[in-house]
Amino acid sequence: DLDSAAAPLPSISKSNIEHRWSDITSYAAKKKVQSWFQLPNGNWELGKIMSTTGTESVISLPDGKVLKVNSDSLIPANPDILDGVDDLMQLSYLNEPSVLFNLQYRYNQDMIYTKAGPVLVAINPFKKVSLYGNDYIEAYKNKSIEIPHVYAIADTAIWEMTRDEVNFFFLLSGESGAGKTETAKIAMQYLAALGGGSGIEYEILKTNPILEAFGNAKTLRNDNSSRFGKLIEIHFSETGKISGAKIQTFLLEKSRVVQCAEGERSYHIFYQLCAGAPSALREKLNLKDVNEYKYLKQSNCYSITGVDDAEQFRIVKEALDVVHVNKEDQESVFAMLAAVLWLGNISFIIIDNENHVEAVADESLINVAKLIGCDTMDLNLALSTRKMRVGNDNIVQKLTLSQAIDTRDALAKSIYACLFEWLVEQINKSLAVGKRRTGRSISILDIYGFESFDRNSFEQFCINYANERLQQHFNRHLFKLEQEEYIQDGIDWAKVDFDDNQDCLNLFEKKPLGLLSLLDEESTFPNGTDFTFANKLKQHLNSNPCFRGEREKAFTVSHFAGEVTYDTTGFLEKNRDLLHLDSIQLLSSCSCHLPQAFASNMLSQSERPVVGPLHKAGGADSQKLSVATKFKSQLFQLMQRLESTTPHFIRCIKPNNFQSPGSYEQGLVLQQLRCCGVLEVVRISRSGFPTRMSHQKFARRYGFLLLENVASQDPLSVSVAILHQFNILPEMYQVGYTKLFFRTGQIGVLEDTRNHT
Ligand code: ATP
Ligand code: MG
Repeated sequence: DLDSAAAPLPSISKSNIEHRWSDITSYAAKKKVQSWFQLPNGNWELGKIMSTTGTESVISLPDGKVLKVNSDSLIPANPDILDGVDDLMQLSYLNEPSVLFNLQYRYNQDMIYTKAGPVLVAINPFKKVSLYGNDYIEAYKNKSIEIPHVYAIADTAIWEMTRDEVNFFFLLSGESGAGKTETAKIAMQYLAALGGGSGIEYEILKTNPILEAFGNAKTLRNDNSSRFGKLIEIHFSETGKISGAKIQTFLLEKSRVVQCAEGERSYHIFYQLCAGAPSALREKLNLKDVNEYKYLKQSNCYSITGVDDAEQFRIVKEALDVVHVNKEDQESVFAMLAAVLWLGNISFIIIDNENHVEAVADESLINVAKLIGCDTMDLNLALSTRKMRVGNDNIVQKLTLSQAIDTRDALAKSIYACLFEWLVEQINKSLAVGKRRTGRSISILDIYGFESFDRNSFEQFCINYANERLQQHFNRHLFKLEQEEYIQDGIDWAKVDFDDNQDCLNLFEKKPLGLLSLLDEESTFPNGTDFTFANKLKQHLNSNPCFRGEREKAFTVSHFAGEVTYDTTGFLEKNRDLLHLDSIQLLSSCSCHLPQAFASNMLSQSERPVVGPLHKAGGADSQKLSVATKFKSQLFQLMQRLESTTPHFIRCIKPNNFQSPGSYEQGLVLQQLRCCGVLEVVRISRSGFPTRMSHQKFARRYGFLLLENVASQDPLSVSVAILHQFNILPEMYQVGYTKLFFRTGQIGVLEDTRNHT
């Protein structure tokens, strides 16, 4: 037992978990024990305490320097024997530098996974580490290896799910580039290996390259950044074999199709298509090189180091075959992609002195019309005019240059977003679970973590709201439920406080005066603008402690992970997410089947059917559900599902901002550990009683080990007799009304005896 080997240090109790040396420095000096000392750059350095006067201590640093420091600035370090423990819960001193050091110690040896009680911490290695593949899968399956790993959790999930008929949920979180998507794939790999057999597992794995091609892009933070949230639910049969799966996606960032920042790329599939399309397809779609498309050209970045787009295209096509998207449909998909690219090249000329425009009838316009299957004249009209109803008259309004550009871009974005949805639908058809659900499933949620940039817009607003919800679930699950269970069962356990984020959630969700309601309300006003929206927020929410109005059109929210200032520019537009009826009609009149399907999908998503071709002047096509409302309802459904599952939390951590192996920045890691509550979790799990068993189960499981016959006694008496016979120390367990609660490690002895009897 590591803890007892480390006995010379004062033992841990709840109050000294975070304590400083001041009360024990003289002891420490006697033993020349190690202590953390913070350097001016914020990093922690390990030093030996040489002597102390109580308030002041002399420490020697590894480079030989000797410093006189304030004893209060020293934080106790763990004895060497605890270096790199598997589970942070085993640390005697559970302070920030000790946790940081432990993770770093492991990271330096490519041990990227560490347990933090019930949470798995995964630190991105940014290089190939030999921890995966069949040998490792076998080892975890046979339980011949015990090092923390995604495989180990997936293994537990499979066994418990099969045995207890429960649903498991992996919740991955972390910043962009922290490794959520990779970790999800690693988990899927294990599930496929153990639950495979029917062949469906192969299809499931092949959804990854497809969704990544269409939903991932190179950003400044991550060369393969997911620009959508994804939930995959994998269903199993009674015997633990995969029977099907279902994918749900959230909030694809569609603005990227028409606009992306310098040094970033649009969605991978565009570059893959241009690089990898065979010549017949190139000709058919009239494909050019990537640098001839304005949408791709604007960010000045065409390739990713180490990635062969042409090869990726081949992989995606193969994957599409596997999930039963037939060749004809594949070609339609590629035609839609080409149409989006050509749309970006459509330009306009001004035709009168009121700045009205029409599209230039060049190659771009002709190509788009051909690719979607419509007349060039109709396309031109849809891009440069708008039908309206003013009073009783139907009129055709000509668009100005900026209106026409917006219309063109909106069409491109819609086609792409519809294409993405359509693909997910096809995949789901192919993976369909069928009628025989067994109530056994494992779900994996890979959704963007908390984001805070210099400029934060509607996307960050939605993402951070989702993270607030997930964080609450995390808190609830790990902290509240924990406490409630203790209290309900009548055991003595001092409450541990945790940061509840209910206030912030109220700020978002309260009706009618919450951020989401006010956003929706303003979005339905024909005259609402980002400016009136921002003013309304300031007017109604300024008294909320989580809210602060800022200058101009901005506002700040105090999130659990820190303050974020949002710029409301574009909020209403993005929330309404309207495609003008003229564009929808254009699509529905196309001879190709995909645009038709997209149009009918858009119409059916409206709250009320959009009737007739004509609309009131100024009255936008406002029947459609707003983006925020749709997202919120998706989120609520997700939360409901979460309630009835056993969640497993995996926190992905990015050790540096350069996607480079071997560099571990303490400050950056620490900030992420704080944001995702890892330190809190360890503290609580450790000071609590994580193992629990009902009196009945305990008596049934271990009763036969008793030396005297207790067959006639009630389960509680039997349980107590067992505890006595095995000398389980009183501070190591508590007897509740219905259950026995144990500290970590206690059940081990009993299990060992049981297994060898
Ligand atoms: P985003 O929110 O932007 O989608 P993410 O958290 O999904 O980010 P990933 O795309 O999973 O991040 O990881 C980023 C990169 O880090 C990967 O492309 C890969 O190069 C590297 N990486 C992550 N996890 C591992 C791992 N276990 N082994 C090796 N490399 C990894
Ligand atoms: Mg990702």
